[in-house]
Amino acid sequence: MRLLFSKLAETFQELEETSSQTAMVEILSALFQEATSQNIDKLCFLALGQIAPGYEDVKIGMAERMVRSSIALAAGKSDEEIDRRLRAVGDLGTIAAKVIRIGTPRLTQDLALKKKLEVEEVLTGLRQIAAVEGKGSQELKKKKLAAMLARGNHTERKYLARLAAGQMRLGVGEMTLLDSLATAFLGSKKERSPLEKAYNLSSDIGHVSKTLMESGLEGVKKIGIAVNRPIRPMLSQRVSHLSQIREKIPSRLVSAEEKYDGERIQAHKDNGRVRLFSRRLSDVTSHFPDIVKHVRESVTARKAIIDGEAVAYDFEKDMYRPFQKLMRRRRKYDVELFAREIPVKYKPFDLLYLDGEEYVDRSYPRRREQLEKILLVSKYVEPAGRKVTEDLDEIEEFFQDCVQKGLEGIVCKSCGEDSVYRAGAREWLWIKWKPDYSAELSDTFDLAVVGAFSGRGKRGGTYGALLCAAYDDKRDVFQTVTNLGSGFTDEDLAGLPEKLASARKDREPARVDTTVQMKPDFWFEPEYVLEVRASEITKSPVHSCGWDAEEKKGLALRFPRFMMWRPEKSVEQATTVNEIRQMHKG
Ligand code: ATP
Repeated sequence: MRLLFSKLAETFQELEETSSQTAMVEILSALFQEATSQNIDKLCFLALGQIAPGYEDVKIGMAERMVRSSIALAAGKSDEEIDRRLRAVGDLGTIAAKVIRIGTPRLTQDLALKKKLEVEEVLTGLRQIAAVEGKGSQELKKKKLAAMLARGNHTERKYLARLAAGQMRLGVGEMTLLDSLATAFLGSKKERSPLEKAYNLSSDIGHVSKTLMESGLEGVKKIGIAVNRPIRPMLSQRVSHLSQIREKIPSRLVSAEEKYDGERIQAHKDNGRVRLFSRRLSDVTSHFPDIVKHVRESVTARKAIIDGEAVAYDFEKDMYRPFQKLMRRRRKYDVELFAREIPVKYKPFDLLYLDGEEYVDRSYPRRREQLEKILLVSKYVEPAGRKVTEDLDEIEEFFQDCVQKGLEGIVCKSCGEDSVYRAGAREWLWIKWKPDYSAELSDTFDLAVVGAFSGRGKRGGTYGALLCAAYDDKRDVFQTVTNLGSGFTDEDLAGLPEKLASARKDREPARVDTTVQMKPDFWFEPEYVLEVRASEITKSPVHSCGWDAEEKKGLALRFPRFMMWRPEKSVEQATTVNEIRQMHKG
């Protein structure tokens, strides 16, 4: 049974209109009940505004200008006219919905007898648009989209245009999809856990949903690791006093490791081929041809998945360089030039898979031992430096050495029998400790921007402060924790409305959870992450972070200061509500 795209578009409309995560789950699980094993993966991708799993790097890739031209073509109007309307309305979807009448003159012959659009066909069409390359490709992409637009009804056109321009922003996250799948097929969202585990290992929600429909829960439990498919990275907790590491880590023996201020890179070696994935699971192979080469030469195994950190390094001065330098390597052009200018070291610290065997369920000492066995160490690829000890004083000493070397701090890892690799989880098996943490009241937080307040006086015409939120990973919602107005340069400030424009919403997004008192002038779909330094965590009646219903208070950051944007992080990788609670407890 095929599903009409109009049904999906109506669901998108409902999702857009709802302001609660619970309602979103109900809407999506109702949709999933009508799905087949042929199309459920496609429904998941489209709800996320994607056409393939995120790591596959298949982007629809139509610039807004091109989507505008497609709309013009389908409507039989000029580009200028669509432009004019767009300036007045500001949303491509609305324009596409309103301006095209079925049967408009220029495309009548293309209407394929006005056959209704089906979900599979839309996805195939969008994938074809993504795949067209070379001379004349722009024209072809434009025509293909126009042909679909001309066949759609009002609601279908709205979402087709937004999908093509990468502007879906329904606020549906992977965890909401997993909750909805669990509700639809396992009876309740409480049953999410095995689905989440499979997703953490495969990073492919389409694959998980399809397997669930085809082979049930048993099939999902068998989803394992595959080379060339990234595993969601394991993350670390933090403490407010170094001594707490001892209480929190579940083993006597601890591996205290150098923490590099670089970029998390998961390297997949598949015979002669190497692929690299970022912390957000994007394929970053093309940015780092040098790491590709060094991993190919250093890793002696045929097939392996290695977790590690890439860090910019000055080989002449024998010194680590800061994260900002490394970020300059994230570019489309002049890749080789920048590879020479900003060379990197790759510092592997974990082994997740080796020649047909999954390593994630083995203890850390076993994984690390095997990792070292398969590495030919060179100045470009060296395992992360570490000290394995039971003694807190030695950990402290190691930490001081790291700080002296200009490193960011340390990550302490459990060495117990149960020290497995928990993909996608932030637990006490890994604890990070940075110099900032020892100076009380100067912690940093990665927060999602969810709203803004209009600026006054000098800040007229831009935002006076941004409303920022932490992530509640249990409930898949964002809870506000601070109004951020300082730390921005005048240039940063002036650029805020434009930078955040694509995430603007005219109402509170469904996954944002605020108190009744919190009324920003503008709302944003959680999409941008920034790093904030603050002096203290206090209780607050206006912020919802870690809300205590009895006391009617949440937690807030005092004296927040903007540090930098964190484009390499997804909003689900923001500091969690639980971490802030822990820090507040001390
Ligand atoms: P931060 O912004 O503090 O780096 P994060 O949220 O990116 O934190 P966490 O898991 O909390 O990630 O902190 C550990 C991070 O430190 C890893 O994601 C990784 O990028 C980096 N790192 C550097 N060296 C190591 C190491 N030896 N072991 C594990 N992680 C390391």
